[in-house]
Amino acid sequence: MNNRKCPSCGAEMELSLSNKCLICPFCDTHIDVEIQDDGNTGMLDENMFDFLWDLDNLKQYENVIAVLDSMRYCLNSLKTAERVSQYIRTALLTDEDVASEGINQNRIDKIMPKIAGLIEPGERIIVYGDDGILSRGKEFFVITDKRSIFVNGKKTGSVLHREISAVRLDPNGGYPRWKLNNQDSFAVTGIGNKYRLQGAIAALICIIAAEQHGGREKIKLL
Ligand SMILES: [Zn+2]
Repeated sequence: MNNRKCPSCGAEMELSLSNKCLICPFCDTHIDVEIQDDGNTGMLDENMFDFLWDLDNLKQYENVIAVLDSMRYCLNSLKTAERVSQYIRTALLTDEDVASEGINQNRIDKIMPKIAGLIEPGERIIVYGDDGILSRGKEFFVITDKRSIFVNGKKTGSVLHREISAVRLDPNGGYPRWKLNNQDSFAVTGIGNKYRLQGAIAALICIIAAEQHGGREKIKLL
């Protein structure tokens, strides 16, 4: 039941955490199925994470399930930062409000003056996400292979992935936000309802955190 080819694109489909459907990680095709609850054992690697989640609470929200399904796929099936970055670039950047090096590059060129002083030569921009123009000014985030940068009007914050020790998944009434190190100012949103992208970004950050900080403690999932 876990193995089934996507009728649209031929990729391997995955069982959703909701136990109600199979999902294609590449084209987001859903197929309804009836599966007995498996208790969600083996969801993520317990050597990498400390689970402080209330999964039953999180699973109330369809968008949160989409985030978790995508995170689980990236961590359990793709496993490396390189492959997750590749998945993000080939399957999940489908709109003008998101960008990566060489994809909607003009969006990155525009904000480069704002972040150039925060990144090192050779650092790769993997995701740029544009939240639009809010009351405080333009809001966006940039995820590189080393850090996450959050710009909110005139305020700019940055955190190195190797310094991330906790990640909170705030269900926020079904509009989930990832809070890096549980800080409100380091929030990765679901830009334009791209919840699979949001889950893949969380996986990428956790993988880089683990890769760049050898012998570290587990990452707390709050
Ligand atoms: Zn597909």
